[in-house]
Amino acid sequence: MQYRVLGRTGLRVSALGFGTMRFKMVEGKVDEGIAIEALHRAMDLGVNYFDSAVGYCESQSEAVLGKALKGRREGMVVSTKYPPWGRSATADDCRQVIEQSLSRLAVDAIDVYHMHGLDWEIAQKVLATGAAIDGARKAKEEGLVRHLAFSFHDDPKRMIDIIKAAPDLEVVTCQYNLLDRANEDSMAYAHDNGLGVVVMGPVGGGRLGFPSEQLQGLLPGGTSTTPELALRFVLANPNVSIALSGMNTSEMVEENVAAASRDTALTHEERHAVVQALQENRRLADLYCTGCGYCMPCPNGVNIPDNFRLMNLHRVWGLTAVARHRYQSFGPDKPNNLNAEACIECGECEPKCPQKIPIIEQLKETHRALCQEAQEAD
Ligand code: SF4
Ligand code: SF4
Repeated sequence: MQYRVLGRTGLRVSALGFGTMRFKMVEGKVDEGIAIEALHRAMDLGVNYFDSAVGYCESQSEAVLGKALKGRREGMVVSTKYPPWGRSATADDCRQVIEQSLSRLAVDAIDVYHMHGLDWEIAQKVLATGAAIDGARKAKEEGLVRHLAFSFHDDPKRMIDIIKAAPDLEVVTCQYNLLDRANEDSMAYAHDNGLGVVVMGPVGGGRLGFPSEQLQGLLPGGTSTTPELALRFVLANPNVSIALSGMNTSEMVEENVAAASRDTALTHEERHAVVQALQENRRLADLYCTGCGYCMPCPNGVNIPDNFRLMNLHRVWGLTAVARHRYQSFGPDKPNNLNAEACIECGECEPKCPQKIPIIEQLKETHRALCQEAQEAD
């Protein structure tokens, strides 16, 4: 296992972190046997960063992690989060939530305590005087929390605004992967300003967990699997402290540990070759559809950009299996969420597309490529 320093926390952490949000569930309950076996396997192989949150796995994740840590706490770095949504987010409320997390985790202190899922609007609520962050600061003074952190979902520039607004935050956890590099510059800013940078979704929330000849072919000499390349790509970024992977079996732990244990994640030349190829693929994807949404709404409820996003996963990135799987999940459960088949060819969208995409034709092609039944009928 490779180890890195988590910014100015000074903590020595494993390059691979264990995200505890994907434990196997059976009838609404975490399968504790499998989960704890995977956690222990990770500890045995040198993983020492474990990230949880109040709501993960139907609010059972912290307690399961607590059981796995019994008798093995020493040297482990435990992270969890304050969920600010739909609550007062006062200092007192945060203090109460910290005490509950300490009890579920069965630890005396939380090493890294996050304000969970900040966008700029929630950040202003949580970081105000007398708000949740002050509860966490007080808990830190009392030794219940060791380091303050935030997880982030917003326009990348807002990450910098949050860092400036609360200079005592020492760690940021954010999205970053081969297909989504939007946070790259803000991560560099965070790193340069002494924050530890933890990457969630290094395999693209599962999208990069599927095989892709195109992606595997990006690396000179090839690589054995797409998830391995995805993990190595994230770890090759010098601003990244930890790649956090949501693991749920010992086998997955072993595969990820192997990828995170290489002396060099990617050489300078390999990373350069991958970035060049990614830029070319991105250009190709944008030629098809940039996802701008100007064509929306469709009067017939077709989610045009999302259909094309899946088509790009198939056509540009070779992630056909995941694209087909996700194509099946379109449905009338939310507004404007129908698949390409629902297009009645009214033509309203096409003049609004700055890319001049022949939307109707492309939707037909999308349906043919991604719908199993359409293929069988062909
Ligand atoms: S052409 Fe199809 S996708 Fe475009 S607006 Fe009409 S129904 Fe919607
Ligand atoms: S307007 Fe064109 S480029 Fe923008 S989302 Fe719609 S189809 Fe894609």
